[in-house]
Amino acid sequence: MTTTPAPTRTPLSLFVLGQGSDPRSERGVECPGDLPPASDPALVERARRAKAALGERVFVLGHHYQRDEVIQFADVTGDSFKLAREAAARPEAEYIVFCGVHFMAESADILTSAAQKVVLPDLAAGCSMADMARLAQVEDCWDVLADAGVADVTVPVTYMNSSADIKAFCGREGGVVCTSSNAKKVLEWAFARGEKVLFLPDQHLGRNTAVLEMGIGLDECVLYDPHQVNGGLSVEKLRAAKMILWKGHCSVHGRFTPEAVTDVRTRVPGVKVIVHPECQHEVVLMADEVGSTEFIIKAVESAPPGTRWAVGTELNLVQRLAKAHPEQEITFLEQHVCYCSTMNRIDLPHLVWALENLVDGHVVNQVTVDADTEHHALVALQRMLDLPGETTKD
Ligand code: SF4
Repeated sequence: MTTTPAPTRTPLSLFVLGQGSDPRSERGVECPGDLPPASDPALVERARRAKAALGERVFVLGHHYQRDEVIQFADVTGDSFKLAREAAARPEAEYIVFCGVHFMAESADILTSAAQKVVLPDLAAGCSMADMARLAQVEDCWDVLADAGVADVTVPVTYMNSSADIKAFCGREGGVVCTSSNAKKVLEWAFARGEKVLFLPDQHLGRNTAVLEMGIGLDECVLYDPHQVNGGLSVEKLRAAKMILWKGHCSVHGRFTPEAVTDVRTRVPGVKVIVHPECQHEVVLMADEVGSTEFIIKAVESAPPGTRWAVGTELNLVQRLAKAHPEQEITFLEQHVCYCSTMNRIDLPHLVWALENLVDGHVVNQVTVDADTEHHALVALQRMLDLPGETTKD
């Protein structure tokens, strides 16, 4: 994966916004030119004008977890895979402005044509989960599996929330990509081809799907910790396991606790707890309903008026759901969980800055995936798309 080289200077406003504070963990945080101040009262009008000037040449994608100030300019909203496919379906759009995080922009670049340029308004909008699985670590893990004599009976499966080079690794090694909606179907595909699955990078989605939807025992799941020698696993454990779960998690969904479920049930009589499968296994076990972001939205939309919900997913989405459905009682599951901080880096100043640069003919913060990585990542994505029912799904 490459990104356009970071240009020359970091304006003061970027540091004011909290960027550049940890250059070792942030990729490409600099942005050229002047970022408008967040206090500029003309920001909404500037975004509107720039978007109108670009017309059909630009297509703005807004992930469900984005701020309202950004979502209002999205041509389409959705989860990451839906958005990447929407971009691919708009070949007339020269510029795809992805209001989301880095791996999502990579997926959009993989699925769109070479003529389309994908822009991430703030390159520091990464994803902590995706960053928990680096290619070198995964290659080391594969060597550990080979030394234990199990690599050739293991199928690597990566969640959509992973970098392009991890998807490409899966493509090269006979593996596949999954989403939170189709993880069960993808695991069935994988177990038809191998005895074991290496599931990357979200341990919770892997465990919840394997145990609750596939009937695999918790004792048949092991956790591979890339920060320990041999993943912290003995050869015997690796040989006995069916699911080898990568030790990664979502910094937002991983924070919901069983105590929060107990607490909300005490506070809100009759409440239905609905959570995302990236939540911890113990939380998912206690919930009334479990499903992807799109599943949660549809469940809330189709419920009878007066239904009481406690929703365990990202706060921006929960707040928007509550606003859109005043006929229902919607509460956030956990008082100690906040927004996805990296998603929240995409704010109105960055969007205005990116759009106005495009109007001026400057493509800023372009995210590109190199040809070899793209080829192998597409192999893994195509295996998923070839599964029954996948090509027509949104
Ligand atoms: S909500 Fe979780 S998985 Fe999604 S971008 Fe944020 S850290 Fe990554």
